[in-house]
Amino acid sequence: MTLAPGSTIGIVGGGQLGRMMAIAAAQLGYRCHIFAPEGEAPAIDVAAAATRAAYDDRDALARFAAAVDVVTYEFENIDAAPLAALAEQALVRPSVRALEVTQDRLFEKSFAAGQGGRPAPYRPVDCLEDLRAAIDALGTPAILKTRRMGYDGKGQARIASSDDAGAAWDAIGRRPAVLEAMVSFEAEFSILLARGADGATVAYDAPDNSHVGGILATSTLPARPIVAAQRDEAVALAEQIAAALDYVGVLTLEYFATADGPVLNEMAPRVHNSGHWTIEGAVTSQFENHVRAICGLPLGSAERVRPHVEMRNLIGEDAHAWREILSDPAAHLHLYGKAEARAGRKMGHVTRIW
Ligand code: AMP
Repeated sequence: MTLAPGSTIGIVGGGQLGRMMAIAAAQLGYRCHIFAPEGEAPAIDVAAAATRAAYDDRDALARFAAAVDVVTYEFENIDAAPLAALAEQALVRPSVRALEVTQDRLFEKSFAAGQGGRPAPYRPVDCLEDLRAAIDALGTPAILKTRRMGYDGKGQARIASSDDAGAAWDAIGRRPAVLEAMVSFEAEFSILLARGADGATVAYDAPDNSHVGGILATSTLPARPIVAAQRDEAVALAEQIAAALDYVGVLTLEYFATADGPVLNEMAPRVHNSGHWTIEGAVTSQFENHVRAICGLPLGSAERVRPHVEMRNLIGEDAHAWREILSDPAAHLHLYGKAEARAGRKMGHVTRIW
């Protein structure tokens, strides 16, 4: 089914990913309706309509579903149950199943492993005793991550020795978790795959991603040779997973490039920060291809337009340097319109291509 331009796309989540998705949708002649809880919602500034309600407000979701032609999401830390109810009423792309698999680290890892992927060695942890046993099994250093609701390094605790078990368990709020062995990697990269409603796919070049404090700092292309060498294998897994989930939209897989090949870190059922470079750096941006996919349009080329691309996140007060950034005539500045530059907050990004 094709949703013609002029149709309304419902976006669950009001952050910068929704904002850039809505801008891409508007360019193609679609209207966007944002569903977001109270509070700052950068996507609403650029959208045609908004519903402000909690993510589990079923009545508000039902009204939202009735007002739009397709529902997508830009944020995966929402309870799947209300979205599943919504899916009985409206077309939801990507599917609620994709959300369920990827919002739980344990399901995600076992699902990916079942599709031939290789996550870091891991163990489920439901209590302190489990954690001690997992540390014995995997050794240290290791990293404890909550199964749900973790992002940008939140809900994680590093474990240097078995003495850290109690403190780490407290630090993550004693919630269901997984313990992961620390991977010794040479680089981090991501695969962004767009899959259309007809099953056609396009994959972007894999950028070299650097993180500071668990938050993405830069995405750079061309990536180092180890990343380029592992890209095709990493794309093949993304295609396999997307097909298994009958996925429609942009799917992101984050990897560690290790001496033994790509190790899957995590997946996101959505457009991704490490794909922001595609706005200026690729023929068709991740946001436009997501819109094309969920509306049943043909996908656009994912080819890179210039040899060199660098995307740098503006975190917290970095965004105050907008004048200086603009003094480089080649810089593409994106600011998300957030009022307060709190530490660790993604305020914008800047991309250079040459
Ligand atoms: P995550 O939120 O799981 O993507 O973790 C944030 C960052 O922490 C990653 O991008 C890595 O730099 C680091 N990290 C997470 N898990 C591991 C691991 N198993 N081994 C080594 N580094 C990790």
